[in-house]
Amino acid sequence: MSNSASSLSVLVPVYRCEASLNQLTERLLAVLQATQRPFEIIFINDGSPDQSWATIQNWVQRESRIRGINLLRNFGQHNALLCGIRHARHDVIVTLDADLQNPPEDIPILLGKLDEGHDVVYGAPRRQQQGVLRYLASQIVRLVVQAAMGITYAGDISAFRAFRTQLREAFTDYRAPTVSIDVLLNWGTTRVCAVAVQHNPRFSGRSGYSVRRLFAHCFNILTGFSTLPLRLASWIGFCLTIFGIGVLIYVVGRYLLLGYSVPGFPFLASIITIFSGAQLFALGIIGEYLARMHLRLMDRPSYVVRQEIEHP
Ligand code: UDP
Ligand code: MG
Repeated sequence: MSNSASSLSVLVPVYRCEASLNQLTERLLAVLQATQRPFEIIFINDGSPDQSWATIQNWVQRESRIRGINLLRNFGQHNALLCGIRHARHDVIVTLDADLQNPPEDIPILLGKLDEGHDVVYGAPRRQQQGVLRYLASQIVRLVVQAAMGITYAGDISAFRAFRTQLREAFTDYRAPTVSIDVLLNWGTTRVCAVAVQHNPRFSGRSGYSVRRLFAHCFNILTGFSTLPLRLASWIGFCLTIFGIGVLIYVVGRYLLLGYSVPGFPFLASIITIFSGAQLFALGIIGEYLARMHLRLMDRPSYVVRQEIEHP
């Protein structure tokens, strides 16, 4: 299979990245011109409060292969990417962060691997440039995705990816406020692999993600794309039923054998606490899914475009 002539759409979600945008664009243009493939760069401005959109507009004026999409407000990185994926015009999509943590010079490495016949290639960082807590949090998110989706490559998932634009057919109708691009790509293919790439310190400013936001994201993926928590609730219910039967046998057995039962209040109080706790826990999980269905039924969009610009 020869894909060496496949054209490229490079997607960059932009949030508070005005400082790195110029350098990123210059380096991207240099790299993409060197690949000698037709290409476009799409910047998706995710409601940045800074001058990012003005910078993007400026670049669109200067270079015909750069396009800009301005979202109505901040929807989140994956929502912005989904928007970009749906607007892409070329055969292969490359996504990378705007903060220069993924060096554009590594794009040919991803493309080389893709040409070997894979559908998705992740640029897995050789060495993480993040704080310990932040690193732990991302690792947990990866494990959760792995457990929830049954995908084995979750450890290599990163925001630096190359994949075939065709894969978007798998989620053309996807419409929900929470999006995970990696989960969506997983709907379309299992031919996924990773290559080692450089991961640099952030160019400037600080990460738009806090550890808290990352955990929220993790919980969202779990309840949004899998039924794992529901199964967990069933299992807890099942185990407590066994435990309850055990307790019953113990109490009745004691009465029959020794002639007296267990002392009343402390025993009852602890049993009630355990069982009502488990019930509330299960109810909470069911409620979470109900809330998700409710949100889905509201049909809130993944993103809304304010403006789309192209070279005049
Ligand atoms: N980003 C975005 N919307 C957000 C947060 C981030 O589009 O609400 C973009 C941001 O511009 C960058 C990428 O997502 O291109 C990664 O963001 P960040 O560097 O803050 O995250 P980290 O590198 O810590 O995962
Ligand atoms: Mg970053």
